[in-house]
Amino acid sequence: MDIAYAYYPFTLRASDYVKRSGRSIESLLDGEFGKAVVRRAKERVIQAIKGEIKKAFGADDILAQVELFSYPFARIFVSCIGNYYLIRRYALAEAKAAYVHMRGEEPRFLEKLGREFNVQCALERRDFRIHFADYLKFASGMHDPKWKLVNRCLEDGCVLVTKEEFARLLQETIRDRIQSSLPLDVSPSLKKALSPHMAEISEHFEEMRAEFRSDEFEEVDSECFPPCIRHMLALIQAGQNLPHSARFALTSFLANIGMSAEEIIDVYRASADFDEEKTEYQVKHIMGSSGTVYTAPSCATMATYGNCFGKEQICEWVSHPLSFYRKKLYYSGEEDRSSAESSNAP
Ligand code: SF4
Repeated sequence: MDIAYAYYPFTLRASDYVKRSGRSIESLLDGEFGKAVVRRAKERVIQAIKGEIKKAFGADDILAQVELFSYPFARIFVSCIGNYYLIRRYALAEAKAAYVHMRGEEPRFLEKLGREFNVQCALERRDFRIHFADYLKFASGMHDPKWKLVNRCLEDGCVLVTKEEFARLLQETIRDRIQSSLPLDVSPSLKKALSPHMAEISEHFEEMRAEFRSDEFEEVDSECFPPCIRHMLALIQAGQNLPHSARFALTSFLANIGMSAEEIIDVYRASADFDEEKTEYQVKHIMGSSGTVYTAPSCATMATYGNCFGKEQICEWVSHPLSFYRKKLYYSGEEDRSSAESSNAP
């Protein structure tokens, strides 16, 4: 087997190899090889939850095959949990793991990989010329000013990037491909067969989420809410009813920053159509009573549903209302610290 398939299992060639191998998902539920694959898939998802997928198969062909076949199983595990936040975290960890190896690849290999992702590029010695539309598609999500088009040299509609930068752009395309292809539709029988492994994954996921909720946002500070959320709260206070997508965004945001179900239900009391029982059901459902804990939608999704409102400067640097909140909390902490220092100054 070409060892590259194990490093880049999301490529069409790797997936073609898996299909042609004759090893179906069902057939891998039995036997020593299958057990090793499922074990590694579980480990892969847990590593993604912790932030880094580690690949350690060296030149061993069997281990490399286990690595490759564990990829579709990992996608199935992630789909069984079906949480959007996990999907994003998993896709990012897979893309980052690929980036680590892409940095050491020859430019010709990266050029070929880029073509698979329809990135129009041409090699110029060891650098790459990319069509600006492709560049913008993936660099626009990056916050470092060096990625801004105004800071790049544009020639004949193309942007020149180094090999490392090209690999970083490919990381974004890979993340995008993986994220947009999940969740998969998993049959109930396969879910059942994999359920003994799901508990451990769910446990790690919930641990991470608890950390995310309680450690990161110890106290709720409404002064730091993003404008979209403040707007929704203002509408409720004015006695207006929020559309479903806005209620979902508001509830999941408040839950993600650590507010209790009761506190969130109280927020809705001023709504013209407030119905305690219905609100309690909806809030608890979003908070995980059905087994899925929902994450607040990203800025892109908010914009799609017309819920991005009153953008402020911080909005230009974030892609998620939770990131806005995190940044604003940080800045307000900095301001408090500096005013405390100046008042203590002699
Ligand atoms: S950009 Fe994001 S954080 Fe800012 S208002 Fe729009 S949805 Fe909210």
